[in-house]
Amino acid sequence: QRHWQSSWSAEDVRKAAVDHAMLTWSPSSSVSSLPILERAEGVYVYDSEGKKYLDWTSEAVCVNLGHSVPESVKEAMLEQMEQTPFVYGGIGLVPVRAKLSALLAELAPGDLNGFLFPSSGGEANDCAIRLARLYTGKTKIFNQYRSYHGGTLAPLGATGDFRRRFAQDSATGFVKMFNPEPHFFRWGDTDEKACEMALSCLEEQIVAEGPSTIAAIMVESIPGSAGVLIPAVGFMEGIRSLCNQYGILMICDEVMTGFGRTGSLFAFQHFEGVIPDIVTSAKGLTGSWQPLSMVGVRQPLKDFFKDKATGWGSTFQAHPVAMACGYASLKYMLEKELLSHVQRVIQPVMIEELDRLVSKYDFVKQARCVGAFGCLDLIDPKTGERVMQLGEPLTPEMQTFKKAFNAEGLIGFLRPPQVHCAPPLIISEGELRDGFQRLDRA
Ligand code: PLP
Repeated sequence: QRHWQSSWSAEDVRKAAVDHAMLTWSPSSSVSSLPILERAEGVYVYDSEGKKYLDWTSEAVCVNLGHSVPESVKEAMLEQMEQTPFVYGGIGLVPVRAKLSALLAELAPGDLNGFLFPSSGGEANDCAIRLARLYTGKTKIFNQYRSYHGGTLAPLGATGDFRRRFAQDSATGFVKMFNPEPHFFRWGDTDEKACEMALSCLEEQIVAEGPSTIAAIMVESIPGSAGVLIPAVGFMEGIRSLCNQYGILMICDEVMTGFGRTGSLFAFQHFEGVIPDIVTSAKGLTGSWQPLSMVGVRQPLKDFFKDKATGWGSTFQAHPVAMACGYASLKYMLEKELLSHVQRVIQPVMIEELDRLVSKYDFVKQARCVGAFGCLDLIDPKTGERVMQLGEPLTPEMQTFKKAFNAEGLIGFLRPPQVHCAPPLIISEGELRDGFQRLDRA
């Protein structure tokens, strides 16, 4: 009977969650300390005790358009539910799929002309890996150590972040390469040196592994959960030219960065002349109001699969209601000129405020930001080293900081020793400055 009660008390919710709910990247017992979030609006979420939080990382850097679904998006989803709530992709074509594909082809640069629509970022990367292997007839995929590509088997094999590599050994064919990360990087103390060194090591690795065995180099255009590691000028361009030179595909994972996060549709557009052979994205495509991802391929791959199956599929891929949400969300993003809002309003404030924190505190080593995608590194000022290593249990200071972060009315993911700043793209200048004041106090 209790299941059909009109409302559950916070205690009921907490007890049922503790007894039955399981988490993904944290032990399930941590559900007991999570706030119960009951309501959300704009850039704010509210817990069951009425506390208001500013969403400082757009949930998992995904609620790009905030927490209030515009009427136009609701209507588009409702209309789709009334017309054809579900059609399996192999049985029928729904108009919204054709429209979304055509819109993406128009918005994406170059000849990125073919699109598949899985449901999550991990699935999109899984699909991209499959396509690259089929197209090239080769197996190995190069990925960076500082990367996250998703929680399913192949993307987890591709992932370099050891915090996420629980089942890494069971997926094969992935070769890890270094990111040019100069700040804590031992190879050189400038962007140029680190970039040069990383590219020459990469070329050595390509030669040593054998170009005829390598299907693709797959990178996050700007590694996100690893700390917004904006590649130095020349690095992405260098990967593109090594790929051309050795007949290897370039895959850009834009699951976190796609659809406006960095102030352009895709982050690879910040790098001169770089167009990947395959691009994947998810989160921002629907503002995360529906689960939908995309894999975009260039014309030669599109042509290759004209008479061959891609061999990648799921029942829910190209889900009509999710695509209706994606199409209407993209329209909303364009009509509201959010890319220009990110470039003109958000980025300058973010850079100014992040720089202020760097100058104010000796334990804030450095900040990076592009668009609405920022991060700062916390160090021990005595040693100049990271305040803790990635994946280590939180130090007492970091635990205090985490509590203060929430107490100051900020919510989001914290990945010490880094602090991500990635609010929804609809945030106003006032809300953003208020967020930075809260972060400063924390
Ligand atoms: N790739 C990148 C760069 C990501 O940041 C993420 C998630 O954070 C993924 C892939 C996985 O996406 P999903 O969680 O939707 O499977």
